[in-house]
Amino acid sequence: MTDQHEATRSVLPAAPDAEALLEHISEIICVVSADGLLTYISPSVRTMLGWEPSEVLGRPLTEFLDSERHPDYDEVLDTVAELQGTHGPFGLNLLRVDGTIRLLETTVTNRLADPAIRGFVAVARDETERMAAAELQRKAESRFRALVRNSSDIVVVIDSNGRIRYASPSVERILGITVLGPDASNVLHYVHPDDLEAAKQLLRLAVQTSGEVTTRPFEIRLRAGDGSWRDLELLGTNLLDDPDVAGLVFNARDVTDRRRAEELVTEQATILEGITLGMPLDLTIERILAMIERRIPGGCASIASLDPDGVLRHPWARTFPHAVLEAFDQSPMDGALGQAVRQAYPAIFTDIAADPRWVHLREIAVGVGFRSCWCYPMLVPGGLEQIGMLTVMHIDPRDPEPAEVELLERARNLAAIAVERHRFEGQLEHQAVHDVLTGLPNRLLLMDRIRHAVARCLRNGADVAVLFIDLDNFKVINDSLGHGVGDLLLKKVAERFLAAVDPNDTVGRFGGDEFVVVCEEVGGEEGAVRVSERLAQALDEPIHVDGAEVVVSASIGITLADDIEADPQSLIRDADAAMYRAKEQGRAGHAVFEDELHQRVVRRLDLERALRGALADSELDVHYQPVVRLEDDEVVGVEALARWHRPGEGVVPPDRFIEVAEETGMVVQIDRWVLGEALKRLAEWRGSGFGEDLTVSVNLSARHLGDPKLSDVVEAALLDAGLPPSALSVEITESALAADAAAALYSLTSLSQLGVHLAIDDFGTGYASLDYLRRFAMADQLKIDRSFVADLDTGSTRDQAIVSASLLLARDLGFTSVAEGVETETQRQILIDLGCKLGQGFLLCPPLPASDLREWLSKRAEVARP
Ligand code: C2E
Ligand code: CA
Ligand code: CA
Repeated sequence: MTDQHEATRSVLPAAPDAEALLEHISEIICVVSADGLLTYISPSVRTMLGWEPSEVLGRPLTEFLDSERHPDYDEVLDTVAELQGTHGPFGLNLLRVDGTIRLLETTVTNRLADPAIRGFVAVARDETERMAAAELQRKAESRFRALVRNSSDIVVVIDSNGRIRYASPSVERILGITVLGPDASNVLHYVHPDDLEAAKQLLRLAVQTSGEVTTRPFEIRLRAGDGSWRDLELLGTNLLDDPDVAGLVFNARDVTDRRRAEELVTEQATILEGITLGMPLDLTIERILAMIERRIPGGCASIASLDPDGVLRHPWARTFPHAVLEAFDQSPMDGALGQAVRQAYPAIFTDIAADPRWVHLREIAVGVGFRSCWCYPMLVPGGLEQIGMLTVMHIDPRDPEPAEVELLERARNLAAIAVERHRFEGQLEHQAVHDVLTGLPNRLLLMDRIRHAVARCLRNGADVAVLFIDLDNFKVINDSLGHGVGDLLLKKVAERFLAAVDPNDTVGRFGGDEFVVVCEEVGGEEGAVRVSERLAQALDEPIHVDGAEVVVSASIGITLADDIEADPQSLIRDADAAMYRAKEQGRAGHAVFEDELHQRVVRRLDLERALRGALADSELDVHYQPVVRLEDDEVVGVEALARWHRPGEGVVPPDRFIEVAEETGMVVQIDRWVLGEALKRLAEWRGSGFGEDLTVSVNLSARHLGDPKLSDVVEAALLDAGLPPSALSVEITESALAADAAAALYSLTSLSQLGVHLAIDDFGTGYASLDYLRRFAMADQLKIDRSFVADLDTGSTRDQAIVSASLLLARDLGFTSVAEGVETETQRQILIDLGCKLGQGFLLCPPLPASDLREWLSKRAEVARP
């Protein structure tokens, strides 16, 4: 009522001085009639809105209102009309004369009943600027409130000692602590002990710096209400001097989850790296399990492998109770549970206590405190085949949380990669140490097995036997029936050997047709011989391969390890030496390695070592033996024969060193050297007039056969000496031709194309069948082995028969025959009678050093001249 009076009093007098006064007040006072027309307006309307009072009077108020912002104006008016007294303030938007809008805070008094007024008296004050400022302020405040309340950022204001003056609500929400409690008022109280020093330093720095303390966020661990540690990233600003704040302001962000995610990625990368670097599978799995268990408190993880027979086995676990794993492994897993876990997607058992599928395993699992079980199948990387399973059992009956699902999926993928890689490596490893054809351990693995057997057995006072087995006639079978049959035969032989030995013994393939058997606790030499007899018996029955019935026999060498230091190589070597002795004693038998044999082996090794230096040290030499026409002693050629002048040993005959050279491959260099020497000599002799047609024969080892460069080497040597190919004859032993017919055929063809002569050496000893010889029709000569010639004058009709048959054969095939080792006149006569044209032997001339032969040749020339 007081307002009414005041308003009424200020309008009613309407005295000019009052009117002038009203012109300068900061309010507009107006009267609006019941039908909305302005019946009075104070002159202040002029200064405040720019209107002349006369323009306004008599017009409806609504004309001056910003109708867009006052859709409910009529309603307001109605309300005001129905009620008595003063209302408001309302905010009215009024139009200025220039079209802009001003916000006027207006109170309205209903004076309809007052006969002097008969209207509503409105008092309006221009609040445009103030309202705008207030609005800004309000907005800013609400934004700030929102920021502090809802952002994950923590805002803490502390004093220079670390006492907390203000903490945003987020502190409680994020860290679960009420920092403004009585005993919790210092931030340092929450800092991780390891970070405390750094925190104190930061605080000191903050006090000294004004404004921003650090440009980069600072990381610190704080204890949360539940005792866990959270990683916070802080930025500090020193506002101690700002009277409004008077503190150090820290904005902190909880980066724990981000850090955990980063750590997980790093850990995963480390494990992956380990896998690629070949870290042992057990260790990789251990790390994967640790990675899971660290992140899922209350969970126990295990990894199972899925055997090829479909059985899940749990070899890997860290904290998982073994009783439960055992129960898993023993459970048949063929029911609903087994079905659920053998899928390509995870099986989550939220509450195993209530899950009917857990009927068999429930008791034991719940018994140790587990309530839920999460099974993630491990699939072949990039495929759907299950190779194992990752299982987490948890003490709470619940599903894994999204972060846990991600973790488990990553973990099971890692485990799958590790297991798959291991399987693959296992395969590679198997291939690396097993023979592809027979699947037996190869040389490498055999060595390993021998090493272990020796270490194990000799330590326990038991013995180890190594048996070296060589099939007697395999080469011939292989060549005559073909490699395919040969391979099948080896497979069957391997099977028979395996069946013949104890399951603990190792049967391995050493190479070609050589097998090695390692027997532990064999029971001395007697026991070893018994094993070898069983092996020999295993071959008694003919073997059926590819429709053929093949009989093979084996020569077996036995050695017993008697020294814990015995290395596999020497044991194999001894067994091999014994095997050779068995061959010498007539095939299909066995021999036990003896000390005398050992001496031989040692001598042989010694020889091998010495021979290596022989070529380099010019210890080799070539002797020459003439090949003459038996009828008239006419020299047709010379054979080059290698000699080794071994220092301190005298001359070593080729019979003693060529074999060793062949085994080691040195023979290739020796032969090339002899070839070069011989051709140079021949060029010299030809030049000295010892016959334009004189030829030289050079022996080439079987090692050269199949070498695609052989004819190049020979051609180069001929060019070097300046001789035509026809000056050279190459001798290859018959046994070399038989051993590898294909390789021999290749080399001989290329040599004959070159134009050199070819001789088949030691004919009659190499078991080459007639059929074989036909294939080597490009050869020129057959050299009949001296063992047949030697017996010609002892009246052996058998040898005479062989020699005459050979001569006939040679003639049939177009070969010239050369008899080797002619020592007596009788032999020469018989050979002439049998039709042999050429001969070589002590009777005619022994092999001589180059200078002696030159002398011998010139004497010959003198004798022949007169
Ligand atoms: P071979 O090719 O059959 O050589 C003939 C062998 O018979 C030579 O033995 C020779 O000295 C010997 N001899 C010659 N006349 C008589 C005789 O009237 N009575 C007896 N009992 N023996 C006689 P040598 O020189 O000891 O050579 C032995 C074997 O060594 C050769 O047999 C040959 O197979 C091999 N050889 C020799 N030099 C080389 C070579 O440079 N390279 C290769 N790969 N093998 C070679
Ligand atoms: Ca020869
Ligand atoms: Ca010969």
